[in-house]
Amino acid sequence: MKQTLFGATALAALCLTAPLAADGHGHATTLEEAATHALASDTYAWDFVEGITTEVGPRQAGTEAEARGRAWAMAWLNAHGFANVADEPFEMETWVPGDLHRAEITSPFPQPLVIQPLGGSASTGPDGIIAEVVMFESVAALRAAPADSLTGKIAYISHAMTPTQDGSQYGFAGPARWIGAELAKQKGAVATVIKSVGTDYHRNPHTGGTTFRRADGSTDVGRPVPTPAGALSLPDAANLERMFERANGRPIMMKLTLTPENLGTTVSGNVVGEIVGRNPALPPVLLACHIDSWWNAPGAFDDGAGCGIIAAAALNVQKSGQPLRTIRVLFAGAEEVGLFGSSAYSAAHIDEPIGVGLESDFGADRIWRFESNFRESNADLHGRIAAAVARFGVANSSNVASGGADLNIVRDQGGAIIDLQQDGTRYFDLHHTPDDTLDKIDPVQLRQNVAVWTQVVGILANESRSIQTGAPLPSAPATMEN
Ligand code: ZN
Ligand code: ZN
Repeated sequence: MKQTLFGATALAALCLTAPLAADGHGHATTLEEAATHALASDTYAWDFVEGITTEVGPRQAGTEAEARGRAWAMAWLNAHGFANVADEPFEMETWVPGDLHRAEITSPFPQPLVIQPLGGSASTGPDGIIAEVVMFESVAALRAAPADSLTGKIAYISHAMTPTQDGSQYGFAGPARWIGAELAKQKGAVATVIKSVGTDYHRNPHTGGTTFRRADGSTDVGRPVPTPAGALSLPDAANLERMFERANGRPIMMKLTLTPENLGTTVSGNVVGEIVGRNPALPPVLLACHIDSWWNAPGAFDDGAGCGIIAAAALNVQKSGQPLRTIRVLFAGAEEVGLFGSSAYSAAHIDEPIGVGLESDFGADRIWRFESNFRESNADLHGRIAAAVARFGVANSSNVASGGADLNIVRDQGGAIIDLQQDGTRYFDLHHTPDDTLDKIDPVQLRQNVAVWTQVVGILANESRSIQTGAPLPSAPATMEN
């Protein structure tokens, strides 16, 4: 899939026509003014996320809905003056959730429970299955269960996730979803039901991808799980757990009906666009998000907002003049189901050096912390960025940035990465639920994101030296920065 997407003619034309920014009174807009203006009145990010959630809605990876999302995003980028807008296709194995999502306790306390399938779940068939539920309070408890002890049964996995500003509890509770189904299957389970990996007490199950683990322990992200797997909403999970307390040893029987389908190979794609720099030979600044969402919500927090934030930052930087380096946005396809877009982008472009990568994929609440992976190798630049974002209430950090899911190419190149950490306190109330809708976005906090991104991207895009090391760079051709 390696190809040259960016025609020299279009690139030259943009260089000639790039506007010189001015405020209408003959005084050029500085980067600081552009960021300050974004904090008060940016409209780009809201326009993007409001538009895509309204006109497209849910964007399940590999489906026609995701394709409409990509087309919508390309039109938006073109309408806002991005250059070299393209949809870079790749093929993927596509899973869709199907129509029947039911869980019902048949005895001893018959009643329905609210469930949704996990990404990659197998189908029970439309008639469902009935089996005894065995409860595990954690993945560790399931792991300790004897071999074959779940033969013919449904494993239920709980956890005790709580909200955190840095989202760190996701790493603690996430394995119930990521590996629970495969672990249970290895012990004979016919299906797996988990307490949603989330923190809200609404009857909204949190879906999300499962990570298939082969028998040898290696992971195969994105491969369908061989057994049915679903997530109960937190109130329904709590109800099920109370049933175990009241059953006095009687078996708890569940009828589970989930009918996902595998569509086979379909086409997804990565949408890219650029604000072309004055020296396009310098490695670009890569801003990433993902364009797909789960089927159950229009993906406002995850990740329509992220794509809006990065696109808005690129446009706001341009208001302070054409940047030295090209700013490229990457709206990755098929992130949720296995990072297919991020992997495809890296495979296609691994030989094209990236100057620095940043991703926005943690909702739309305020940025509170700045991290880089060059704090020691380029202390001057790290320090300048930290000083520049302090006015937005963003703290410096000695954590080493590792980047998000859509920055595979930068990690694969061993390149420079910045993480602008967002407040995740309510992220897992909404993440992968039907509640991930536009009204949850606070426009004030969204604009704070855009302001911080504008400030940071503007500094990076005007950096003539290696972002990773601070060493001088030859102006052409582009060279690896590590
Ligand atoms: Zn996401
Ligand atoms: Zn997600």
